Amino acid sequence: MPSFTTPAIVIRRADYGDYDRMITLFSPELGRVEAIARGCRRPKSQLMNAAEPFTSGEFQLFTHRERNSLEQCQISDSYYELRSDYDRLRHGVYWLKLLDTAILPDTPAPELFIVTLRALAHLNYGELPPELVTFAFECHFMRLMGLSPRMDACVRCGKPLDGDACFDADTGGAVCLDCAASRRETMYGAVPRMSNGARRILLKTPRTQFDKFQLLFERPEWPEAARLMRSHVNLRMHMEKFAPPLYEK
Ligand SMILES: [Zn+2]
Repeated sequence: MPSFTTPAIVIRRADYGDYDRMITLFSPELGRVEAIARGCRRPKSQLMNAAEPFTSGEFQLFTHRERNSLEQCQISDSYYELRSDYDRLRHGVYWLKLLDTAILPDTPAPELFIVTLRALAHLNYGELPPELVTFAFECHFMRLMGLSPRMDACVRCGKPLDGDACFDADTGGAVCLDCAASRRETMYGAVPRMSNGARRILLKTPRTQFDKFQLLFERPEWPEAARLMRSHVNLRMHMEKFAPPLYEK
């Protein structure tokens, strides 16, 4: 296939030569695809907007000697608002960093692609706090990586949970109050307490349709759940440097 077309999102760019740029695409069917956008930094290049992070659309690529070059792009969204708002941009950049570590060549990820597009639409056009959208994105991203924290039962003794518990980011889930008490002086220090409301949010959010996250805004425990989720993501994805601040009223 010398020439092919795929829907994709630009997740990374690196300038190259005087006028060129390497871009990394996330394609739902092909996974990670690297391509050269030749001449895209020339003032009147038709590829200029296509070679920007966040741009989503139909990308037409030409393959020669196992290297792809971008021929043209039918842009469906450039997410201009989020790119021009520093606060929202920090959240979007963090998502792209997560995707950059997760998306592999020749590895389809159609559900993650759809979650990313929905999340970007909310971040760009929505009214809800970006911290809430990031929390929902993290929940779905980690589920699709097979890394959701366990929330229905104690990760140490297996006892089904109902009510308050603790959160052990190190083990990756909820710990019953009995086990937490016996673990207080370990090398990891005390595990933080978790309200039943936050635990239920962490249990349900990854299992419900992405767009339902909007209902979380009415739940007072969501910032607590988001803080615990972030500690879980940091330990597994090592993105502390890029993680945006957590929600504060
Ligand atoms: Zn236990």
